[in-house]
This record gives sequence, C-alpha cells and structure tokens, in this order.
Amino acid sequence: MDPRFRILPRPKGFSSSISLLIRAEKTPDTCQNIQPGVEPINIFQFVKFKEQRIVNFNDYLHDFPNVHVLDLFQQICITADVKHCQNEKCQAIRREMINAPACEWKCFRDWALVTMSCQMNSKTQGLDLESWKWAEIAHNLSIVATFTRRDKMLAANVDLFQVHELINWMVTINSHLHPSFEPHSPLRTHITKQKIVEATQTAQKVGICQNRLWNLTVGGGEREEVDLPILMAVVEKHSTQFMKHRGYEDHGICTAGVCCFNNIDNTRVKQLHKCSTKDCEELLHFPLSELERPYERFTWWIDDIENTKNIPYIATEKSQGQYMAISHVWSDGTGGGIQGEGLVNRCLFKYFQGIAKELRCTAIWWDTICIPVERATRQNAISRMHENFEEAAHTIIHDQYLVQFPWTDDSRPCLALLLSPWFTRAWTALELMMSRKGKVSVVYRHPNDPGRYIIKNLDKDILALHPAYSSRSHWIASTLVSQLRGQRIDCIGDILKILKTRSTSWPRDLMVVAGLLAGHNPKVNTPGFIAQITRDIVLGLVEIEESFLYHGHTTMTEKMGFSWCPFSLLDGDILTNTDRPERVYVDEDGAVSGNWDYRILDKEDAVNVRPYSFHISVDWKIRVALEQWESCLLLRNTHNRKGLALLVVPLDVAKCEIGGIEYVVLDCQYIGTVYTTNLRWGDSYSASVRLGKLSKHPTLSAEEITNRYYDTKGCRIYGRPWEDQLHSIKQARKQYSDRVATSNHHSF
Ligand SMILES: [Zn+2]
Ligand SMILES: [Zn+2]
Ligand SMILES: [Zn+2]
Repeated sequence: MDPRFRILPRPKGFSSSISLLIRAEKTPDTCQNIQPGVEPINIFQFVKFKEQRIVNFNDYLHDFPNVHVLDLFQQICITADVKHCQNEKCQAIRREMINAPACEWKCFRDWALVTMSCQMNSKTQGLDLESWKWAEIAHNLSIVATFTRRDKMLAANVDLFQVHELINWMVTINSHLHPSFEPHSPLRTHITKQKIVEATQTAQKVGICQNRLWNLTVGGGEREEVDLPILMAVVEKHSTQFMKHRGYEDHGICTAGVCCFNNIDNTRVKQLHKCSTKDCEELLHFPLSELERPYERFTWWIDDIENTKNIPYIATEKSQGQYMAISHVWSDGTGGGIQGEGLVNRCLFKYFQGIAKELRCTAIWWDTICIPVERATRQNAISRMHENFEEAAHTIIHDQYLVQFPWTDDSRPCLALLLSPWFTRAWTALELMMSRKGKVSVVYRHPNDPGRYIIKNLDKDILALHPAYSSRSHWIASTLVSQLRGQRIDCIGDILKILKTRSTSWPRDLMVVAGLLAGHNPKVNTPGFIAQITRDIVLGLVEIEESFLYHGHTTMTEKMGFSWCPFSLLDGDILTNTDRPERVYVDEDGAVSGNWDYRILDKEDAVNVRPYSFHISVDWKIRVALEQWESCLLLRNTHNRKGLALLVVPLDVAKCEIGGIEYVVLDCQYIGTVYTTNLRWGDSYSASVRLGKLSKHPTLSAEEITNRYYDTKGCRIYGRPWEDQLHSIKQARKQYSDRVATSNHHSF
C-alpha cells in the first residue's frame, strides 16, 4: 500500500481532553512534520479496507452516519500523525499566531496551530507546497463539517461554530499560501443561523444600518452571510465605541433591503466647519471660471500659500507636481454646500491643505472646487471623473464618521471603514478602485487626543497583512475592502454587485459610474444615455451572463439588436454564489448567441406558462405570443434553478460567425421571461440560438423550424467556443468605440 495512505479506524468516542498531537523530540534542527523528500499525509488518501477493497473517504463518512462530527474530526486529526513540532522556527511562527480564533476544544486549536505553523515554516524554506498536499487537510476537514448533523450538535459541549472558525482560519491560510487552492467551506445553516440572528440584533442595538450590514454579504466572499457574526462580534465587544460614532443619521427603521438614507440628495448639505467657533473668517473664493478650459483638468496649488498675498491657491494643470485627491461623502458637509459656487469655509480648506502637506503633496483635487460650472465643460469633467483618482499621487478618504473614530491597532478601524457612509456610495467605490497607482490613506481620530486627526495608510496600516497573524474579523473586513479595490470588471455581475449595494445623490449617476467602471466615458447630456451606457457596456464585455436575459423588464428595442436587453443595466439581477453563470456571446450589432435547452409548446402549456414581468406591457406581450403557441419555443439553461425560461419565437435557421468559426443557429425573436414551474419539461433537446438578429413574421411552426435546424449540417455552439478569442475581440471593439468617441469629441 502507498505509504501516504492511512487506515482510518472506527471513531472511538469524543473527548475534548485527548491530545491530537504526537510527542516529538526537543528542539530539533528541522521541522518534525514537513521535511524534504517525505510525502505528507493527505486526508483524501485516508482509506480503509472494506470487503477486500479500498474505499474512499466519503464512503468512510457514510459508514458512520451516527457518529458525532467531533468524533470524526478527532479521529482524523489523530490519524494524520502530526508531531508536536519543537523546531525553533516553527515555534516562533506559532507564538505569532496569537490572533487565531479561540476554541473551547483546546486540543484541536493546538493541533491547528502546529499544522499551520509548520506549513508556514516550510513555505519560508521554499519547499514546494503544491506537491506536499498537506495544505488540503483543512479543506478536507471542512468537507467533513458538512456531515455535521443537527441532532448531534449539542452532544459534546463544544461550540461547533468555533471549531468551524478554526477550520476556516486554516483554509484561509492555505489559500493565501497558494492562490490556486480553492477554499470550500460550507457551513450548515443550523450552526450559523442563531449566530446570524445575533449579529443582526447587535447591529440593531448599536444603531448600525441593517441594509449596510447585509450589503457586506452581497458579492462579498464565498461565504456570504456567514461572515457577519465574526464582524459583529467585534462591534458587540466595543459597542460603546461603535455606538458613539454612529453619527447623526438614525438607521433604526432601515431594513436589510432598504436604507432610508440612500438616494437622498446630499448636494445641499450645509458645509462643514473644522474650526471650533463654526464661523471662521470670510469664505475662500475659488474662481471656478478659471477651470473652464475643455480637456484640461485642474487642481489647486496649495504650496506656500501664506506668501502669495491674500490668494491661497492658483489653478494649476494636474501634470505640475504631486496632488492629493479627496474621496469623501457629501452628506457630512464636505461638498459644495449652499453658500455658492466656489465658496469654501476657510477652516475646511486649511484642514485639507494641512493633510496634503503632511502627505507631501503640493496641490489638491477636491470635486467641490475642481469641477467647472459651465454645462459642456462640466459634463466633460464628470465623464472623466475617474482620471482624477487614477493620476493622484495620494487619495485621502475623508468621512466624518471615520474622523471621529479613534485609531486602534486592530480590526476596528477597518470595520469602521466598511460600516461608514463612505463605503455605501457609488462614486467613492469608483474612486477607490481607480486609486491604484497612488497611495490611499484614511483620516481617523488620534488615539490619545480627540482634537487631532491621524492619517493611516490603507495597505500598510489598516488592512490585515496575513491571515495567519491577524484576527478573523480583521482578515474578513480587509478582504471586503481589497476585493472592492481590486475588482476587475469581466461581467455584468461585477458591476451590479458594486452598484446595487450603493447609492448616489442622483439616481442617474449610478449609470454614469457603471459606464466609468467598465471603461466607457458616458455622454451624460443625451436623453438616451442610460440605454447608451448599457449598450456600450454589454458590447464591450463581448460575453455576458446568460442569466441577464431573464429580467422581466421592457426591452431596449422591439426587434433586432438589443431586443432582449433591458433598458438599464441596473435592471439585471445579482447572482448569488450558488448560481452557475453560463455565458452568451453578444455580436457587434447587439444580437446574442448561445446554447440552450429548448422545448416546443403544446396547447395546455400556454395556460401553464406564466409571465415573469415587472411591467404590464411585458405581461401583455407574453400573453399575445402564447396565443400563437405553435410558433413559440421555451429556452432554458440546465443550471437555472429558479424555474424560469425564455419565451422566444423561432424565425429561421441561419449561419453565424463567432471568432472566425461559422455556426448553425436558430434565429429567434425574444418575447420575455416566463415561469415554468407548472410545466413538465419532458425530454431535453439543445440548440444554438441567436436572439436579436432577424426580424420577420414566422412562416413555419416552431416544430418545423427546429426540424430544419436539425437537418442543417454545420458546427453548433457548445460552452464558450469564443473563449480563446475573447481578448482580441474585446480589443478590437474597444479600438472601434474609442475611434467613434474621438470623432465625437472634436465636434463637441
Ligand atoms: Zn514544524
Ligand atoms: Zn440605513
Ligand atoms: Zn470654520
């Protein structure tokens, strides 16, 4: 038998005091667990002989359906033969792991710390962990965890949530050590349910908006709501601090889905004073007319302002010197206010000036005084807003909620950032994502002196550096911030998960931000700009989620290109992590092609199929089409679990070219989305379908056309055959749209 294999004996009964580690020699030169040339144990290779043959690990688990999960953990840990390594380096690493999750089952925590510290040490010695496989030990434990049975939960007097958290800690370290490792840690809802209820209660008590809380789970991590208890435990522990700094907004009636402070117009909030008297000398006047030169963008020079007569600033082109861009929310009074264009409280400007100087910047970019007023130049400035943060030497995050939050060296400042108004705005999300070249810092309250501020660097001071040494709450909070910061836009869902949880003072600005996120410069002036941005984004992505087609809204056009597409991108749904996103291809004219399961309708189906719609005209369109049920076809995706299908009318069989290859497709007219839960789907057939390319009246029944499709020879679309060419198609489209944009630019 392979020496790495271990025979897992029958579990012997759980006892929290049994040591899971094997005694080892004192102070050895090398790690006792991971050594060059010695293959470690992989739990997947744990086997047992059953009726003369080797059975796999899952079978083993199924053999003991009534054994307590902790009993299984215990047996696995013991069989893994982990030595209580006394190597100096391994021990030193272990001593640093003070923030590892607490656990009442102390022996398991000891075991987890030894496995992780030895593994970290082997990493520093350059041992190839990929071949060691030992890393997967935690992963496998998390699979065992899925066998946790509800009725066995309370038996052992150990908090299973803690055990799971320790396993998750291990899994996170593993995926940090080698990014190819895919974390997989399903937690049974019966373990987490009560903890999540408690988390929402803590939020309620402390005055944290329920909507803000739940938004953290949208597109956050793999584990979604499971992380909330970890984060809220910190808030609970320091509740007075989080309560004291909740600010001036009362989020008591907000729900998980709705925050009452979203979409409030914050542009007319009175401007903030930083001085104690709240009425410092006369206002500073920034002549915004100086900015009204198209295609040049300005910052305000602030260096040595005391020397230059009474004018503390000069409009300067951005290329001159390093400037600081301010990322802020208008709701706290750092916006324009109501005192007139270009007029700013002297103390507020001096405050920002002081910060800029501390960061060694000679100029400031602050939207309040850097966006021209005249219509055309203003629109141009807004459509290129992101560049101000892209080019900044330093981006400073200023939010009065954070400014009043005292700095500490733990997870609290990062958690405060997640719960701040700043994190709920769409513009600021864009600003963070664009600040990739420069440094990013946040203003907090000085830990010892409430009257002073302290500037902290996002990457070096605020975010956790390593999952092995930081607390779980710190790591989770940091991951949520860095995920936003590093988010790539590869599909519609990437945009939706940023914007559907965020707000702007004007609803239409959400679409402007959507355009900027996807790298398009939206022309905000035109009445049809929402549809235009939607088209630009969809065409630019080349492939989109198939799920985007099941929207129930009115479509952008009645026929041909985009006749399947909602008017606004934001009408699309966010997928949850359990959804499997299939992709479809969008051609340059807005026709969409992919592979679907289809079904022909019969007379009764017309009654059983129900419209899924958010507008009466959509409903009507579906009912009219179903009257001609012989002409209709239902399309669905095998992975669609919501019982929805697309109702289409097949028109013809055609050839379609994608990435240089010709495919046979069924050209169809998109009608709408329908519920098929009352329908027996029956046998499944699949077809390559294109929507939005052809417009005519159907002359044949759906059955006749699908037969013709079957008789036509040629390639069919399976999966994503365009995948290899995706990048070059995207490039070509981008070049084309840039050319169009430039030619429009000159006629502006
Ligand atoms: Zn070791
Ligand atoms: Zn709220
Ligand atoms: Zn003042």
